[in-house]
Amino acid sequence: MANTSDRVCIIGGGPAGLACAVYLEKKGYENYVIYEKLNKVGGKAYSPKIEVNGEKRAYETGAIMGAITYHAVSEMEAFGGYYHKGPNFKKGEPNMRREYRSVTGEKIEPFNPKVDKSFKKTIGLLKLKMQFKKLKKLMQTKYAGYDCYGHLGVAAGKYDGISKIVKNADGSNAGEAFPNYIRGTNPNLKDLALPFREFCELNHVPEVQRIWIAPFTSFGYGYFDEIPAAYVLKYLDMTTAAEFVGMRLWTWQDGTQEIYESVNRKLKHPALLNTEVVKVQRPDGKVLVTVRDASGSETTETFDKLIITTPLDYFKDYADASQDEKALFSKIVHEKYVDFIARFEENKGPVISGYIFENMEPARLGHAMVYYHRWEDFGKNCPCTVYALRNHTGDKDVPYDKTLQLMKDDIEKALKFPISEVLYAQESYYCPHVSSEDYKNGWYDKLEKLQGVNNTYYAGEILSFGDMEDTCAASKDIVGRFF
Ligand SMILES: Cc1cc2nc3c(=O)[nH]c(=O)nc-3n(C[C@H](O)[C@H](O)[C@H](O)COP(=O)(O)OP(=O)(O)OC[C@H]3O[C@@H](n4cnc5c(N)ncnc54)[C@H](O)[C@@H]3O)c2cc1C
Repeated sequence: MANTSDRVCIIGGGPAGLACAVYLEKKGYENYVIYEKLNKVGGKAYSPKIEVNGEKRAYETGAIMGAITYHAVSEMEAFGGYYHKGPNFKKGEPNMRREYRSVTGEKIEPFNPKVDKSFKKTIGLLKLKMQFKKLKKLMQTKYAGYDCYGHLGVAAGKYDGISKIVKNADGSNAGEAFPNYIRGTNPNLKDLALPFREFCELNHVPEVQRIWIAPFTSFGYGYFDEIPAAYVLKYLDMTTAAEFVGMRLWTWQDGTQEIYESVNRKLKHPALLNTEVVKVQRPDGKVLVTVRDASGSETTETFDKLIITTPLDYFKDYADASQDEKALFSKIVHEKYVDFIARFEENKGPVISGYIFENMEPARLGHAMVYYHRWEDFGKNCPCTVYALRNHTGDKDVPYDKTLQLMKDDIEKALKFPISEVLYAQESYYCPHVSSEDYKNGWYDKLEKLQGVNNTYYAGEILSFGDMEDTCAASKDIVGRFF
């Protein structure tokens, strides 16, 4: 039962945690606290400022882009008063231009029918086009109901969540149509538990993986032989995938971090920074939260309700987790996504972002899959972010240091862009998800049954998908249904 005077603890000041606070305020809750262990909000939306030619601009080492399907992020923008650029970029705005490179550095044009008019290429592109169209139809018919946030009921052949379809003709946020809950039964949806590769083969559309791979695998979300199709198609639903193909994307001038910094500035209770939650106990209908501040001193506060937006597999280690929580959360796996920002020798860097498809296969684990050139006007002197994955189910992880070296070698030796300095190297706890087997066995429906037990609610990336939109939308859903 909603009690707006309840004291609510939110763990994590990333997109999910701040979105929870926004939606709580909208429902009249004013007695909440957000704990954030770092000295900034935004979590993996992290946009450090770097000086080039005497000018400081924002670069992205975490989240970069959005699309017209970013309805919950639009609500964050409106709350904070800070908005995206694009999809039609003006001069001086960070854009998403791209080209493709072979593993040996040559420019390639895999999707351009005008370059290389060979029979093989023409047939290949035709097949791709036809299979894309076929999948689009299948998703509207055989898999109707797939395009809602979250995974409730999918393992049992049902759908139940906020629809991703917002009705404005131009795809922009229709306000009153979001959230539009849809519910129904469709036994075919069980196929979404299959790894995406098997799902495509089952539906005779294997070629479409060539389209999905760039915005999925190179963006760190894993390989198609291991990731359940549900994650791939809920993130890159047919509309979002088409927007990526058509390069109709969004970016943020001062970086994605600024979306959440702006939100935080407008909240009645901005996040408490440098405050790490180190212990949670839930006796007698109360929630006791122990936090450690920057000086190392610990204090314990009492709450009525708890929302966890941080990794649940870590939560079980510092909280009085129940057997059910331990059993469920130990199934969560995540990707190890490595990226760094590189400066290049004077006038020797790339002038546009690049994708290296051959490095998006498990056999090339640890190699650079994509690099992001954000500021067109900086030409060959623009620092770029370079990205690689270092884990794949069934293979040994590539060590972190070795991954950084492989990535550097790819950029310098294969692509011939000499790096002068590496800035902000990091590995992210990325794209938490469950295996096909656990998905099929109803992991998400088991999690749903735990919502509210011990006054505890689960939000964040695992709920729907590891992107800004899905995390913010999951917060809207959790606050909407349980508070
Ligand atoms: C390289 C990269 C590229 C990406 N590209 C995109 C993109 O283009 N578009 C897109 O939409 N998304 C992108 N993402 C994903 C997006 O950033 C995440 O999905 C999103 O930030 C998840 O939000 P969250 O709040 O669930 O988690 P997080 O962003 O991880 O935030 C969690 C917060 O909790 C804090 N925290 C953790 N433990 C504790 C604790 N014990 N106590 C207190 N605080 C704690 C953390 O410090 C962090 O601030 C990208 C991410 C990365 C890393």
